[in-house]
Amino acid sequence: MSVTVRFAPSPTGHIHIGNVRPALFNYLFAKKQGGQFVLRYDDTDVERSKEEYALGIAEDLKWLGINPDRVEKQSERFALYDAAAAKLKEAGLLYPCYETPEELERRRNRARALGRPPVYDRAGLKLTEEQIAAYEAEGRKAHWRFKLPNHAEGDPFTLNRTDVHWDDVIRGRQTVDLASLSDPVLIRADGTYLYTLPSIVDDADMGITHVIRGEDHIANTGVQIAIFEALGASVPEFGHHNLLTTASGEGLSKRSGALSIRSLREAGYEPMAVCSLAVLTGTSHAVEPAASMDALADMLDFSGISKSAAKFDPEDVGHLTAKLVHAMSFADVAARLKAAGVEGDEVFWSAVKENCSTVSDAKNWWDLIAGSVTPEIAEEDNEFIAQAKELLPQEPWNEATWGEWTKAVKGETGRKGKSLFMPLRKAITGLAHGPDLKNMLPLIGREKTLDRLS
Ligand code: GLU
Repeated sequence: MSVTVRFAPSPTGHIHIGNVRPALFNYLFAKKQGGQFVLRYDDTDVERSKEEYALGIAEDLKWLGINPDRVEKQSERFALYDAAAAKLKEAGLLYPCYETPEELERRRNRARALGRPPVYDRAGLKLTEEQIAAYEAEGRKAHWRFKLPNHAEGDPFTLNRTDVHWDDVIRGRQTVDLASLSDPVLIRADGTYLYTLPSIVDDADMGITHVIRGEDHIANTGVQIAIFEALGASVPEFGHHNLLTTASGEGLSKRSGALSIRSLREAGYEPMAVCSLAVLTGTSHAVEPAASMDALADMLDFSGISKSAAKFDPEDVGHLTAKLVHAMSFADVAARLKAAGVEGDEVFWSAVKENCSTVSDAKNWWDLIAGSVTPEIAEEDNEFIAQAKELLPQEPWNEATWGEWTKAVKGETGRKGKSLFMPLRKAITGLAHGPDLKNMLPLIGREKTLDRLS
């Protein structure tokens, strides 16, 4: 069977690392199976959905390396949802209700007080045509509920336990009793669709074979399976993964700005660091940076996804990025260095990469080599620096120059260890830490070094 999956974000904010988890589970699964990945904007909520966010999501996915095979927008597909709603109405499976939110709340409270589950009592199904006409005349508008198949034949008021099962590709066998649920509202009183029906219609129409999403949707799945069946559509496979939380167990909301993909990108983190963290946290695989999507696809194993929350430490994005950067060849970064105004070559990159937490850090080292620095020379080192300057070898310089020079300076001044090296480093680079000077010195060159030793 060929696999088709979808990532279905609502464009109502910027996506964050928690949203990337389902995007990647779907994308990598499809990639491994040679299947198709659909990016579907769940934008039926026209008030809250914004084009700006949809564009932002596309940009973020591209940066992460997720390339959809097909892009769709629910806001362009209302005719399909209207047709499905009409079909359900005709079959008597979608019925009008006129309760206000306050009335419903009162009924739920009453049911709770009587020790009954707060399940909708299907009062809408008992309305006569006259009652409906009276509500409409009052200006009330119907909201529409789907009649769950959880009752005795021909008698919707006698509920029977009705277990819906599915073999969750992540969590194993799951069961939901439809008699424990209220008939879901599919269309609001203002005529807009809730997420449920459009999602089912699209999953069926787009030939989605696997719906991989967060475990917050488990309860929806039982209902959705019933609706797929009512529409005569084939039911996809489902998989529900654990959700990312911060170390304190807090969920990530769309507004947790610091973890938005956009802000991680702007901070210079590597996309594969973000992807690795989003996928491997809360699984049996060690959280380590995968160098490519193919490598990450090989690390993904649905059976290794834990059933408890996937706690993660945002700092790890930095650690994983640094590991990836340290392993990068010059060819990997050449274009990015050039774009950042770094003219250094392979020798430069090997000299500085261990001291870069992000690729963009290389610019600071390049500026230190090619630009000017403010030498840091302590009063008591003036004499020592002057002596060292006298002993600075003639060019050409190579990796051995630093060793030869400091050996001579040691012989002349009697200094050794930190008191020998640190004043020279601070004078030449203006910093107490940095890449190995044996590599840096030939890049800085004699003229600049002389300049800085004054
Ligand atoms: N738009 C839904 C969400 O973001 C999609 C859920 C699903 O994958 O079915 O939660």
